[in-house]
Amino acid sequence: MKLDTLCVQAGYEPKNGEARVIPIAQSTTFVYDSAETMGNLFDLKEEGFFYTRLGNPTLDAVEKKIAALEGGVGAMLTSAGQAASLISVTNIAKAGDHILASAAIYGGTFNLFNKTLRDLGIDFDFVSPTISAEDLDKLFKPNTKAVFIETVTNPSLDVVDIEMFASVAHAHHVPLIVDNTFATPVNCRPFEWGADIVVHSTSKYMDGHAVALGGCVVDSGNFDWTKGDFPMLTTPDETYHGVVYTEQFGKAAYIVKCRTHLMRDFGSQQSPQNAFLLNLGLETLHLRMARHCANAQKVAEFLENNSNVEWVNYPGLPSNQYYEIAKKYMPNGTCGVISVGVKGGKEGAARFMEALKLAKIVIHVADARTCVLHPATTTHRQLSDQQLIDAGIAPNMIRLSVGIEDPEDIIADLEQALEKV
Ligand SMILES: *Cc1c(COP(=O)(O)O)cnc(C)c1O
Repeated sequence: MKLDTLCVQAGYEPKNGEARVIPIAQSTTFVYDSAETMGNLFDLKEEGFFYTRLGNPTLDAVEKKIAALEGGVGAMLTSAGQAASLISVTNIAKAGDHILASAAIYGGTFNLFNKTLRDLGIDFDFVSPTISAEDLDKLFKPNTKAVFIETVTNPSLDVVDIEMFASVAHAHHVPLIVDNTFATPVNCRPFEWGADIVVHSTSKYMDGHAVALGGCVVDSGNFDWTKGDFPMLTTPDETYHGVVYTEQFGKAAYIVKCRTHLMRDFGSQQSPQNAFLLNLGLETLHLRMARHCANAQKVAEFLENNSNVEWVNYPGLPSNQYYEIAKKYMPNGTCGVISVGVKGGKEGAARFMEALKLAKIVIHVADARTCVLHPATTTHRQLSDQQLIDAGIAPNMIRLSVGIEDPEDIIADLEQALEKV
């Protein structure tokens, strides 16, 4: 089936007399007739739900939908995007290991990697999103376990060369993990370009209405863990009676371990209620992404021609450094987020934002309602000036998340506010 149909229908097939819509299984636990079945479930010898931390029918249906949308073998929902990023790397890297990550990633991911996981003993090197294959190649170490990038970065809107990152990573028998939050599978399917693992903050476009936090890890099933150095997947897991994930679960080894090992231990589960809400968002993702992109394109063109605007960063503008690469990876558009620098520096940015009426100042991004944010003083305020520059964030940068309202109303609001910078 085509992507638009998968958005609406994938993951849940009701049987005779069952609910048409994915039911909310608001239950921590599930009933079985025999202790033996329960034992087999624990030993991973049978499939079934027994405790919502490890699996739940509502989550399962939504996980199957997202796996179908990305073209993967399996997915696991998490409580937030942060938990998805955490699990995606700790599933294959431990203290003493090394990870290469793009410097242009979400601020929360950067903190998680650069501070928290570094403190726990995982070493990181951050690279420019436009690094050459030769330079990237030189940064691999014998203990490098993954490369982590973001398709369209929040908030700097860098578009990375997924194929290049994948091929260099694969030459070192290392998987490429891609945060595909901003593009969503509607605009980009990283597995088709060689990525091995995808993570999402489903709190953004996937939910799309700013009602439910969530995250997701998706496994392509394409990476051969036995060819690299991944003992966590290829040698017995003593906490599961010596199961060897690659032997017992084949292509799904990575995503099964995410659940049975890390979700068991971290407990960062998404609630069934949130998964239900997320599914409602996914049912219209294809419609909303097209509108977000069409609106953002009009708004970006308007901003580029406004005299109170210093610069506009949107990969859909021919003047943008990523225009060509975005056309390759995201021919239908990137996302609804634009970054813009208004005249008057930090103060001009504040005056502009406070004059907006329809667009509201919020931390959130990528939902149906147009909103704005000043990254340098909010989401990225913990970064040093050099780290801000490395992450592509100017002091006067405003992140404008274009919603799905009428574009003329959005532009009228921006126009009146720009007069006040
Ligand atoms: C918001 C975001 C995250 C973190 O997701 P939460 O759901 O807020 O935890 C990760 N990556 C990107 C690109 C994001 O925009």
